[in-house]
Amino acid sequence: IKKLAVLTSGGDSPGMNAAIRSVVRTCAYMDVEVMAIYRGYQGMIEGDFVLFNARSVNNIINKGGTILKSARCQEFRTPEGRKKAHEQLTRAGIDGFVVIGGDGSFRGASIFHKEFGTPVIGIPGTIDNDIFGTQYTLGFDTALNTVVEAIDKIRDTASSHSRLFFVEVMGRDVGHIALNAGVAAGAEEILIPEENLGLDRLLDSLKRSKKSGKSSSIVVVAEGDKTGKNVFELKEYVEKNLPVYDVRVSVLGHIQRGGVPTAFDRVLASRMGVRAVEGILEGKTNLMVGIMDNQIVFTPIDEAIKGHTKIDRELIRVSDIMTI
Ligand code: ADP
Repeated sequence: IKKLAVLTSGGDSPGMNAAIRSVVRTCAYMDVEVMAIYRGYQGMIEGDFVLFNARSVNNIINKGGTILKSARCQEFRTPEGRKKAHEQLTRAGIDGFVVIGGDGSFRGASIFHKEFGTPVIGIPGTIDNDIFGTQYTLGFDTALNTVVEAIDKIRDTASSHSRLFFVEVMGRDVGHIALNAGVAAGAEEILIPEENLGLDRLLDSLKRSKKSGKSSSIVVVAEGDKTGKNVFELKEYVEKNLPVYDVRVSVLGHIQRGGVPTAFDRVLASRMGVRAVEGILEGKTNLMVGIMDNQIVFTPIDEAIKGHTKIDRELIRVSDIMTI
């Protein structure tokens, strides 16, 4: 392998730039040429490539988002689109690539690898932490800290006015952000997609906390929480069934995706980038780098995209105890 490429694809997340930097610098260190592919698979199909060197990634470790831009690309889902992409890689003399993205990006990479035999390694970049084979994905820790900071601020106003807040956080299929942020910010209840703790339980818990003299309450709700009610419906439900509360809603939205990556995400990105390049040069392919018990490990991409990492059930117990 003489020349590798790196791209970011799908939903962006903080730490992607640190991973790009790591891949580029590791290539430079190993004397392998490295091309940056802009705009994900769309840029691959269009040949939007730029030759990078170690200096091309100066001063990006601390930046959120991705300097290479990201994209969703319908054309890459078709055999014709992927054929075009392969022709572009061949023309540019690219022998393999590292893709930083989520499960969709990995699905595309795996299909591409099977069609053309191109060596490919994935780095999990998504705030949802929903990829099997790694305990942490890039951006999760940063998003979590953003959410906790936001809830702390909401709590100030909640307690000044003795209000109940439903705070919606990202997580359509998994409750990692909700559960961890809920525990870290001292939420009264945490509603997640994995488990329906029930609306009765919510009411009971709110009644109890009112009785025990708490002046404000925060309920953290993941987008895809299993009660099937969104934050606005939950507000209505509580107003109807427990009219003692002055209820407000806050949807945190895209602020969760941005911002300066935490030290944790930068270190993780640096470690994953090094192993990704080392792995591909060792002949490994169609694998994803992940972190398990603080060791960088490889998992077949086809396994990584099959499932989600399970939520830590101990956190539910801890949260229950903390909200006594
Ligand atoms: P993420 O990587 O964050 O999960 P997406 O699901 O949007 O984001 O996937 C990113 C891109 O990966 C898509 O826009 C598409 O180009 C490619 N992709 C996703 N799924 C497939 C698939 N089944 N076959 C081919 N390409 C895919």
